Amino acid sequence: MLVVMSVTATEEQVQEVRRHIEADGLTPHESRGEERVVIGVVGNVGLRKEQVMNHLAGLPGVDTVTPVSKPFKLTSREFHPQDTVIEVGGTTIGGGSLTVIAGPCAIESRDQLLTTADAVAEAGATVLRGGAFKPRTSPYSFQGLGMDGLRFLVEARERTGLPAVTEVMEPGQMALVAEYADIVQIGARNMQNFPLLMAAGKIERPVMLKRGISATIEEWLMAAEYIVSSGNPEVILCERGIRTFERYTRNTLDLTAVPLLHKLSHLPVIVDPSHATGKRWLVPPMAVASVAGGADGIMVEVHPKPDDALSDGEQSLTLEMFAQMAPVLRQVHGQVEPIVAADV
Ligand code: PEP
Ligand code: MN
Repeated sequence: MLVVMSVTATEEQVQEVRRHIEADGLTPHESRGEERVVIGVVGNVGLRKEQVMNHLAGLPGVDTVTPVSKPFKLTSREFHPQDTVIEVGGTTIGGGSLTVIAGPCAIESRDQLLTTADAVAEAGATVLRGGAFKPRTSPYSFQGLGMDGLRFLVEARERTGLPAVTEVMEPGQMALVAEYADIVQIGARNMQNFPLLMAAGKIERPVMLKRGISATIEEWLMAAEYIVSSGNPEVILCERGIRTFERYTRNTLDLTAVPLLHKLSHLPVIVDPSHATGKRWLVPPMAVASVAGGADGIMVEVHPKPDDALSDGEQSLTLEMFAQMAPVLRQVHGQVEPIVAADV
């Protein structure tokens, strides 16, 4: 439920409402808008719902108490009508900015990463990507450089000034990866790894949550809800294609997710056309389509020699392809006014 404080409510009244919520065994989450404070109440309220709502509605400074109609609460637009805007490592994600994340699928060597990082920075990327711990379908495939990869990522960040995103696969590694990365990625295969999501809720780094391979929008937002309700409001959603009957592409890019998520949620939405399509030549047109469709940014894989890549070479852009694509994204972004969904 949402406790909407009145415009004239004092700070003491807000604190008093929080104390009552906690005394009821529930957790308050505040959202401070320009005019008023909204307190999201989460927890298992069960049959006590009406009683708790009436109790809170009677407290001084409370304007209204309303139930949230969706199963996701803190990630919903109802709770937080304004867009979440994330400031990280000198760049802004969400709120009308264009985020361009680029880099190799996996960090393979210092040289491979630094060459890619220099090139994508020069071409206008705003965030560097690179996997150190890789979730691979086969146990015999390259699993990533681990700690060495993280160290190279830090070097690349220092050299280019770009904040870096990298994946974490287990809760026990969360704090470690968060020490090295500016943004922590939770991959498609781990979207419903609930202990991992809760661990991501405890770090002071933005989290990029990729859509599960066959996850519905609601399951995805519920996964984001785990992170936010565990204490971390800075979640970026990344659409990366879903598994369908179609085999020409690695996955099927669900571009409707972009306006749909913007309607349902306040979190920034990024599109990854590399994993969505699996084919290099399909990446630029789908990246442009994503930006035209209102995405807050894109994430693409880039490799100096895609044919020699240890993972995902087929879908990796060459340095030249990235340099050609980046200005087109900016051009399209500058011309598209996001079409805001009307309530129907
Ligand atoms: C990745 O972005 O490195 C990755 C493994 O993608 P996904 O989790 O979407 O498959
Ligand atoms: Mn990849």
